[in-house]
Amino acid sequence: MRAVDIIRKKRDGETLSPGEIAAMVAGIATAEVPDYQWAALLMAILWRGMSAAETAALTDAMIRSGRIIDLSHIPGRKVDKHSTGGVGDKTSLILAPIAAAAGVPVPMVSGRGLGHTGGTLDKLESIKGFRVDLDLEQYQDVLARCGLVMIGQTAEIAPADKFLYALRDTTATVESIPLIAASIMSKKLAEGIDGLVLDVKTGGGAFMQRLDDSRALATAMCEIGEGLGKDMVALITRMDEPLGAAVGNSVEVAECLDCLKGRGPADLMDLSLELAAEMVFMAGRAQTLEAARSVCRQTILDGSALARFRKLVQAQGGDPRAIDDPSLLPQARRTVVLRSTSSGFVQALEARPVGHATMLLGAGRARMDSTIDPAVGVILHKKVGSSVTVDEPLCTLFVNEEARLKEAEDLIRSAFRLGAESIAAPALIVERIAREPAGSRSTSGRPTV
Ligand code: URA
Repeated sequence: MRAVDIIRKKRDGETLSPGEIAAMVAGIATAEVPDYQWAALLMAILWRGMSAAETAALTDAMIRSGRIIDLSHIPGRKVDKHSTGGVGDKTSLILAPIAAAAGVPVPMVSGRGLGHTGGTLDKLESIKGFRVDLDLEQYQDVLARCGLVMIGQTAEIAPADKFLYALRDTTATVESIPLIAASIMSKKLAEGIDGLVLDVKTGGGAFMQRLDDSRALATAMCEIGEGLGKDMVALITRMDEPLGAAVGNSVEVAECLDCLKGRGPADLMDLSLELAAEMVFMAGRAQTLEAARSVCRQTILDGSALARFRKLVQAQGGDPRAIDDPSLLPQARRTVVLRSTSSGFVQALEARPVGHATMLLGAGRARMDSTIDPAVGVILHKKVGSSVTVDEPLCTLFVNEEARLKEAEDLIRSAFRLGAESIAAPALIVERIAREPAGSRSTSGRPTV
């Protein structure tokens, strides 16, 4: 069938066969399907949706556009975690060493921050010398030696996704649940994993702001993974306020070190432990989820998770002295303390403006090619539910460039909403999705992002 017929079929709401989808994806590498035809197909998919079977076929074809890493020589079930991203979301740096210390090999291919959200690679690179650009042979070697590895996407992993993502970005077709699910899962499943734990964020600071959309995305990703023989579980977690207290790069690494030393903020610690426990349970390293939770807590208490992180830093060329002395991480020239002008209780602390403010300070990217400053960021002293008195510090800004400081300050102030009533912070984990039977559900419709 010609590409134009496949586009017409989807435009008219029909279901594409796996063969038709595979032919369209194969046509990217051979240039037989030019980008204008893919752009038309993407728009048709955005409006018409894709069935679970079509989404799985698209993912499979995208995985096969590149190399599928073979980790079968490494014993044990390999499990990774993927988060849809948010502000202050740094759980990877905490849960990967915890799971590795509990005996789960963790092969992680991560991304960089964009817009108001941060990225694991940028945080890791704030450790002097840490290399995230390992090739796939080095990736396998570090995994075999340390039980975990953290790198960036290579050109060999799902190259069709790179092409399609760039096209979606310029044709207003990012906001399609089947396209997002296939994009994320193609990269993750090419890693050679046996199972994947998903942290799908929901709320104001998340990619998906509405719970229904987050649930649909989580379900679509679980169905893809299960359809391709992987173990899958998804937690839907709130991203209304930033996770933990630190937002930036070196400040976030320092906070992760606190967590690995058993003294991190409760929300970050609890979520990291819960995601790690899911990984440990999934890998068969504990009989029950409850037992997995206690195995994970033990890795913090006995220092084995911190030791794993140290091993990882050394193996990937980073300066391990920063682990004992976080003052060796990049430091900003000055700090600015924002103080409260009223008293009460924090009712809301919006993640999105906090993320934008740290981007304005230089901690994040407005565009994929922007450079970041690892030293700058924010530490929040008050979170939802905290009591505040007049003149008390709300947060500390770590600053190198003054140019957009005022704008950043205003944004952070606008993120805090104070009121008279005392409130408790809502539970972070909203829902757990596991082993949903694959069906004929259609992941159609456009999410509100
Ligand atoms: N992240 C991805 O990797 N792909 C998407 O489509 C959206 C977010």
